[in-house]
Order: sequence, then structure tokens, then C-alpha cells
Amino acid sequence: MSLSETLFQEAQKYIPGGVNSPVRACKSVDATPLFIKKAEGSRITSVEGASYIDYVLSWGPMILGHAHPDVTEVAVAAAKKGASYGAPCEAEIDLARAVCHALPTVEMVRMVNSGTEATMSALRLARGYTGRNKVLKFIGGYHGHGDPFLASAGSGVATLAIPGTPGVPADVVAHTLLAQYNDLEQVKAHFERHGDDIACIIVEPVAGNMGLVLPKPGFLEGLREITRQYGALLIFDEVITGFRVDFGGAQKRFGIQPDLTCLGKIIGGGFPVGAYGGRRDIMQRVAPCGDVYQAGTLSGNPVAMAAGTCTLELLSRADYAGLEQRTQALVAELKSIFAEKSVPVVINQIASIFTIFFTQTPEIVDFPTASTADSARYTRFYAHMREKGVYLAPSGYECAFLSFAHSDRDINITLEAVRSAQL
Ligand code: PMP
Repeated sequence: MSLSETLFQEAQKYIPGGVNSPVRACKSVDATPLFIKKAEGSRITSVEGASYIDYVLSWGPMILGHAHPDVTEVAVAAAKKGASYGAPCEAEIDLARAVCHALPTVEMVRMVNSGTEATMSALRLARGYTGRNKVLKFIGGYHGHGDPFLASAGSGVATLAIPGTPGVPADVVAHTLLAQYNDLEQVKAHFERHGDDIACIIVEPVAGNMGLVLPKPGFLEGLREITRQYGALLIFDEVITGFRVDFGGAQKRFGIQPDLTCLGKIIGGGFPVGAYGGRRDIMQRVAPCGDVYQAGTLSGNPVAMAAGTCTLELLSRADYAGLEQRTQALVAELKSIFAEKSVPVVINQIASIFTIFFTQTPEIVDFPTASTADSARYTRFYAHMREKGVYLAPSGYECAFLSFAHSDRDINITLEAVRSAQL
């Protein structure tokens, strides 16, 4: 038995499923999770001492690569000055200012501790601000594990085929309206019926939790228009896309101005940080400035704030276009290898994110088309790549991410591994 297997058995005695977040258990790819000893740059090392090229990057945050020396130094220095104060510190202003400068639609921002908290809080604020109840989300869209969002969600909920989840009262999700991603007609139909009670649309501007699915031209514009028309708020969940598809997020890339934005992952530089922000008049409704309550003992944590600010500082000077070109080149090579093998694939890609869908369906544009991907083939692919030292997400419903630390050599090793795959 490998050390990871031994640790996994031990973990299952004390932790449900042996993991602190479901997809990590690698159930859907029929594998035992690797227990990780350390990570540096583009590489992650298991407790057995095996080194892998990492395309998971902690599910997105580590865009600078693992253990970036500057971020590490800043975090260690901050930790030496105390892990948490429960009182304001200057580091909170630094990160808030950096976020507001990077995203002009974010005039004010509140720090929380995860993407889940960011979306839950943004929804409460949207409801409080509009005095309305309903939220429209997209099937296969994932916005963390808050009750109202666990209707037809993506990520682990999709991977594990849990239709919603026990523990969420039916009357809580009764206020959640569902539409297919990229389908404006369904959105319009909801507004025609419930327009005066829809507080907000929440959307991943580029969907990343049913695999990567890009917005069709006009889709995000349509959401902006219809929310304006009916006096509802548009919330962009940029937990994945923020500081990833562009330094200014998907909103910059697509030129759309949401009312509220949710952030997570990259803004903490690997530490637990989420944030929600947006128009000043809306954000001023948040307590103690306004009447919509939201709080957190560890929110604005000084170590996380320092790591996040350092990360954004480095990213403000980073070559996003170069990283995108490298990703495009990798994806083009992947397509030609699969074509040579006569393995039908669609590979969706934007900036440094991509997903390989093993499918005959010509275009992957929403959850039903994403669901046509062959999960048995993905399982074989995952096992082969792991064997060859390439660490992919343990589910076909997830994204692969490149970091600024991935080298040409990493990419060549990856392509060599794909060439030798029997699928
Ligand atoms: N929104 C999106 C778009 C996400 O991808 C995720 C997590 N993958 C979340 C929200 C929830 O973030 P967290 O896991 O930090 O709670």
C-alpha cells in the first residue's frame, strides 16, 4: 500500500470521506487521492516523493506558481506580527485598494474568507438592496455551497450527481430560478413571469464548473440589458475568472459592468480569502455602514491580506498575453494529438484555462452539452497522466489551469505523456 493510501485510510477515520472538500476524494476517477507533501512553482510533490506537473493549482489560486518566494516572504513576515487581531489593520486597506484599482466596477469591497461566503453575502445584499427575493442562476453554474445556490449546481455537485442536496429546505431553493447557460430566451421568460421579484442574476461570466464553457457573443450583454430593464442586479461570480482571464477579470475582457462582483481564489495568493464588492451605493448598504448584516471573525486576516496584496502587485506586472499564448499553443498541440489518435474531443479555452471534453458533440456551450463528455475515457486519461507525472483535476467537470511558473519543458513533458496515452 502506498503512503497516500495509508494516509487516506487514516483520514477516513476522522474526516468524512477522508477529505475536507468532496472532489478531492477522486471518487469519480476511481482513484486514491495523492497526499501532498509540498509544492513549488509548477510542481506538486506527493508524500511518496513523486513530483507532478500541476494543472490544478489548488483549483485556480496559484497563478504565480506554488510558494512564490515574494508571496511566501511577505506571508511569513506578516505571521510573525500575529496571525489575527480581530481589529482593523492597514493590510486590509492595501488589498481593498488593489482590488478596487484593478476592477473599476468595484468601488468598495468587503473581505470574507472564501468564495462561498462572497456569493452568499452578495446575494443577501442584492436581496436587501432590491427588496426582492428571487435569484436566477445557471444550470451547471457553481457559486459555493450556500443553500440557495445548490439547485442544479456544477463542480462537485455535478461530479457526484447529487440533485441538489439533503439539508436544504425546498422553500429556500424555491426562490432560485434556473436557466441554461448561454440561453437568453430562458432568462427572458423568467423575467417576464417574475420580473418584479428577481433580486439578481448571478453568473460565472466564463463558466468553470461544468468544465470550461465560454459565453456566446451577446450572452453577457443580454444579461446586463435585461437586469437593467427590470431593476435587478447583475452579479458576476469571478471567483475563478478574477485576475485569471485578465488582471481586470472577465468583466474587463468582455467589457461588461456588473453591479456586484464576487472574488476568491487568486486574491488570497493561496490563503483563505474571498471578497464581494461593487457599486458604492449598493455596498454602502453593508453593515455597519448600512443595514444588511454580514460579519467575520477572521475576515481581513493580516497574513492573508499581505499574501493577497503581494500576489496582485506581482500580477499587475505579469505577462497575461504571453501566458495565454502558451496555453493556446498547448491546446493546439493537444487537439492535433487527439486528432492523430482519432479520439473525438472539444477543448474549450480562454486565457490560461482549458477543459478537454471527450465528446462527439461539436460545441460545448451549456450543461447538457458538457454532460455528453465520456467520463470513462476521462478516468483512463486521468490515470495515465498521473502515472506519467501530470496532475489533472480528478473530474472531467473541472478546469485545467496554467501558471506563470509552467515552463516549456513542463509543457513538452505533458504533451509527451498525452502522446503515449491509450484511450
Ligand atoms: N464561485 C465559483 C465560480 C467557484 O468556482 C467556487 C469554488 N470553486 C466558489 C464560488 C466557491 O468558492 P470556495 O470554494 O472558496 O468557497
